[in-house]
Amino acid sequence: FAVHLLAFHFTKLKEDQITKVDRFLHQLRLSDDVLQDVAARFQAEMLKGLARDTNPTAAVKMLPSFVRSLPDGSEKGEFLAVDLGGSQLRAHQVRVSDDGKQSSQLESKFYPTPKEVTQGNGAELFDYIADCLSDFMDTRNLKQKKLPLGFTFSFPCKQTKLDEGVLLEWTKHFRVRGVQGTDVVSSLHRALQKHQDIDVDVLALVNDTVGTMMTCGYDDPRCEVGLIIGTGTNACYMEEMRHISLVEGDEGRMCINTEWGAFGDDGALDDLRTEFDRELDLGSLNPGKQLFEKMISSLYLGELVRLILLKMTKEGLLFNGKVSAALLTKGKIEMKHVSAMEKYKEGLSNTREILTELKLFPSEEDCVAVQHVCTIVSFRSANLCAAALAAILTRLRDNKKLLRMRTTVGIDGGLYKTHPSQKCLWGETPHTHSPKCLWGETPHTQAAKSVCGVKHCDSLEYGLKREA
Ligand code: BGC
Ligand code: MG
Repeated sequence: FAVHLLAFHFTKLKEDQITKVDRFLHQLRLSDDVLQDVAARFQAEMLKGLARDTNPTAAVKMLPSFVRSLPDGSEKGEFLAVDLGGSQLRAHQVRVSDDGKQSSQLESKFYPTPKEVTQGNGAELFDYIADCLSDFMDTRNLKQKKLPLGFTFSFPCKQTKLDEGVLLEWTKHFRVRGVQGTDVVSSLHRALQKHQDIDVDVLALVNDTVGTMMTCGYDDPRCEVGLIIGTGTNACYMEEMRHISLVEGDEGRMCINTEWGAFGDDGALDDLRTEFDRELDLGSLNPGKQLFEKMISSLYLGELVRLILLKMTKEGLLFNGKVSAALLTKGKIEMKHVSAMEKYKEGLSNTREILTELKLFPSEEDCVAVQHVCTIVSFRSANLCAAALAAILTRLRDNKKLLRMRTTVGIDGGLYKTHPSQKCLWGETPHTHSPKCLWGETPHTQAAKSVCGVKHCDSLEYGLKREA
């Protein structure tokens, strides 16, 4: 009986805390109607970005990638790939089988990207990439070989062909001087030429979304969407050439890098952004930019949670109203903490540990409340992402003039891969990872799930197809 009473007491306490948080954070809860509306707004943004006359002022840039078809087996052999734009720089060696049907990642190596690299100057950045590549070739004993290189560069680039791309804007934690407005392929090429000991030819520049879609395409030829939910967020998909007025020709399809992170930069989401979103934006490296991304990706969710906890504490809703120096410090709560706090089972004790580390003195109720804040922030992130994806899937389906469509989405990114309940959204067995399933609950995701077979690509290996 005592145990029963205790359990009752605990649930009661939990519910009270949750209601309190819910009331405080109702503005972060997006109803299904609102999400439907977000999907509709994103559809309109896509059209704006695709049309030649509205593209210059469109927030969502809809960048042609010059990848015209998915890997079809005509490419084979050995490639190098280097990947810049996530939390680390990665170099890989990729082999595409003789029949071109399979690609295997032979080896990869990670290199750090310290602040001197992400916020230094351009020449140093490209020298660093070339140095890493040369080191990789050294470790893999590849220095004597002449190999083609795929450059995965996870930032918005205006391309006019496969092996050229002008950086439009730095995003995420990058702000390197003297690169914006210049062709990143020729800069990398120049840096590589300084290395007498290696002979590498930059064959293609691809966004990470495009790389993910292509990798996935080896396993599943139906893959026609690439999605990244990591440090940043973005998606690409195969669009009909006749709808791409920025590129000559009406035949076939081309992959469009939507750059959906910039959705809302023209005010289109202002009614949904909260005071926390505005504050986070003001304190970021790129105020006013990437506003959709700032509600979704891992670089920002921890900071959002911190800002919310700070306000709740100041209002006396947490920690007896006592703020700590750590809680006042920008960047003190990171995505890894949010994920740890949301874990099923260990979550509550993780929360206590993390809050104690921040020199807050949490009661049981505080821990429950903080956990709930994390869930609400993550839930909104997943829902917004789903709404924009639903818009893309609807567009694909309409392009094909179908009522029902089966397709595959290639997904990658650290947030997707490590968050305790993100992955189950998409997986076939929603309840293997955690009892709560973020994406399972909105009509979009239901719709998204029913129209697509969702596929997860762990690796970023890909084969490259020369532009015909
Ligand atoms: C960049 C995109 C990239 C995404 C995911 C965004 O900040 O603008 O180009 O695909 O992050 O890495
Ligand atoms: Mg066209």
